Amino acid sequence: MHNLKQKVERARAAFATGRTRPLEFRIRQLKALQKMLTEHGKEIAAAVQADLNKNEYVAYSYEILGVLGEISLMLEKLPEWTAPQPVKKTLITLPDDVYIHYEPLGVVLIIGAWNYPVALILQPLIGAIAAGNAAVLKPSEVSENTAKILEKFIPQYLDEELFPVVNGGIPETTALLEQRFDHILYTGNSSVGKIILAAAAKHLTPVTLELGGKSPCYIDKDCDIDTACRRITWGKFLNCGQTCIAPDYILCERSIQDQVLQKIKETLKEFYGDDVKKSSDYERIVNKNHYQRVLGLLEGQKIAHGGETDEATRFIAPTVLIDVNPESKIMQEEIFGPLLPIVTIADVDEAIGFINRREKPLALYVFSNNKKLIKRMIAETSSGGITANDVLLQFVVAELPFGGVGHSGMGSYHGKHSFTTFSHKRSCLIKSLTMEGLNKIRYPPLNWKKVEWGKFFTQKRLNKGRVGLVLMALLGLVAAVVYKKHQALLWRKARLIWLTIMRLVGVNRH
Ligand code: NAD
Repeated sequence: MHNLKQKVERARAAFATGRTRPLEFRIRQLKALQKMLTEHGKEIAAAVQADLNKNEYVAYSYEILGVLGEISLMLEKLPEWTAPQPVKKTLITLPDDVYIHYEPLGVVLIIGAWNYPVALILQPLIGAIAAGNAAVLKPSEVSENTAKILEKFIPQYLDEELFPVVNGGIPETTALLEQRFDHILYTGNSSVGKIILAAAAKHLTPVTLELGGKSPCYIDKDCDIDTACRRITWGKFLNCGQTCIAPDYILCERSIQDQVLQKIKETLKEFYGDDVKKSSDYERIVNKNHYQRVLGLLEGQKIAHGGETDEATRFIAPTVLIDVNPESKIMQEEIFGPLLPIVTIADVDEAIGFINRREKPLALYVFSNNKKLIKRMIAETSSGGITANDVLLQFVVAELPFGGVGHSGMGSYHGKHSFTTFSHKRSCLIKSLTMEGLNKIRYPPLNWKKVEWGKFFTQKRLNKGRVGLVLMALLGLVAAVVYKKHQALLWRKARLIWLTIMRLVGVNRH
């Protein structure tokens, strides 16, 4: 534990040297991470395979490819994102430099979960590096082979002091949480999410909580059920149902339940063959505890397909349950396994009510040919993200923030959202020491005339183009001149008018 504290202190001391701040350093680190994945991607994927029984193609595609894509995006966009971001000016700030500067937060803590053990550590890490932070990495102990390989390779490629890997279980995570961090990004279940939030509160540390929940999937009867069921089957049974944004359950009208069931059965055969147990594309439940937990959810359910299990290999077949009672145990907690309940509802109104009576989910899926119905679902429900006519893909669109709302989490990341999550948006206002005449209206003694001028200056927004800006500048300066009674200063004002007009020519520059 002492060693762990030292690692955090070393990261803080390294951050304090300022070496993470230059753009060139961040780019070098990102390229080093890219190199690590290019040179050892297959070994890392093999560790994932050992932990989760994923085949090499699945492990590589779902763990390494996305991370490489995120690095490429950062390398391309970082010069633009790290540059000062000018903001719109007002009459008051017309002659000034006004912009947002994204500055690093400091030392951040990234705690990963086991179900995508590489991506859930490296993807946030990319954002932390891009934003110029130091980052302490805590991979999940449940996926121990991956944790070990990350601990081996990361220090070989990245700055060892700035990006330490801490391995261990709950005692180590607990000890880490006693340290002070400048941001914590945690991925995992909601119960531990509360522990993280409580620990962070002691240091007033901001957090991003990437949690889970029951993500509903509504299938409208006006829909290509064949295609819908193929996409749903892929997203649900990928990684043996252990995906945070997997469709948790299906909501549909009773009249299409049999057809949905039939299409899912056909797709399962298409994906995994006659004997799913022999398919190298079908994973296993991660450990005995989760195996028992998932089995417990089957109690009292009407199994329409699947249901085969094997404790020795933690195999649970893709299982579809029909006519599921909304009050049953399986509908009370996130399944996080290969069980797919179908709950029948009368119509879309009932589906919306059903979704809204439960905690806000991480994802919501709707399948329909009817665009109005899709828009209605978006307008009348809430969730971390929503995808219509497909599943999971909101995760891979880098422009979309990935995160939950309410019980499914707080904050978001991916692409630019990762960069901003790990940055402080610093307000920068650079004024000159000239034009003091303009400031008279804010200095005491105040009177109604000054208040009226204040109204004029504060309520005018400058969105009228360059000509408008010039006119506004003139107006403002004339006002200042009028306010000042001393004729002798007029020549100075005239000079200021000229200077301001000159500055307007470069109004968007810094
Ligand atoms: P897990 O068991 O790997 O735990 C996650 C991390 O929490 C680990 O690093 C572990 O060390 C730490 N931890 C566990 N217990 C702790 C405690 N008592 N105190 C401090 N730290 C502790 O993962 P999990 O929670 O089983 O993950 C599954 C959950 O994560 C599901 O709910 C899933 O939906 C969610 N999830 C969310 C996302 C997302 O991006 N939103 C991604 C993956 C998983």
